Amino acid sequence: MSGAVPIEPNDLCLDCGMCCGGHVFTHLALTESDCDRLRAAGLHQAGTQDRFDLPCRFFDGARCLIYASRPAVCASYRCKTLAQAQDGAISLDEAKERLRKVARLRQAFETAIPDGMTMPNAIALATREETPKHYLPIRLAYVALQVIIDRHLREDGDGIVRQRMG
Ligand code: SF4
Ligand code: SF4
Repeated sequence: MSGAVPIEPNDLCLDCGMCCGGHVFTHLALTESDCDRLRAAGLHQAGTQDRFDLPCRFFDGARCLIYASRPAVCASYRCKTLAQAQDGAISLDEAKERLRKVARLRQAFETAIPDGMTMPNAIALATREETPKHYLPIRLAYVALQVIIDRHLREDGDGIVRQRMG
C-alpha cells in the first residue's frame, strides 16, 4: 500500500517567496556558521551585522540567488501553511489556494505604493500612528495583507506584527 506523497517545501515555496520579500519579517538572524559560510563565499563582509534585512538582497523576486549558501533559518523555516500542509492538516491544493490569496493581497499592496516610493517607506507610512489622508489606500492595503499573513503564514498571528526570523 502506498501512502500520500510527502509535500516538499518547493511544492509551495518556488511560487511564493513571501518570507524573503519583506512582507512577513523585517529581517532574519544569521548564525556564526552562516556568517563564516557567507564570508567564505564572498557574500558577507567581516564586521557587518549578523542579520539580513528584508526584502532580502539575494531575492530576485522569484528565486534565492544564494540557495546553496543561504542562512540556516532559510533552510529550516516553515510558515504556518507549509507546516500544516507537510503535517497533513491541509491539502496541497488548499495550501496553494491560501498562498494565491496572500499573493493577491501582496499585489494589491504593491499596486497601492506610488511610483518612486520604496516598500520600506510605504510600510513606514502605513504603520504610522496617523497616516496622511492621501496615503490611506496604502495603509488599508497593508493592513489587509498583514491580516492574511497572520492568518496563513506567521505562527504568532496576534495582529499586525513584524518580527525577526530566527
Ligand atoms: S511563506 Fe511559506 S510557502 Fe512562502 S516561501 Fe516562505 S515558507 Fe515557503
Ligand atoms: S538568503 Fe535566500 S532564502 Fe534566505 S531570505 Fe534571502 S533570498 Fe530568501
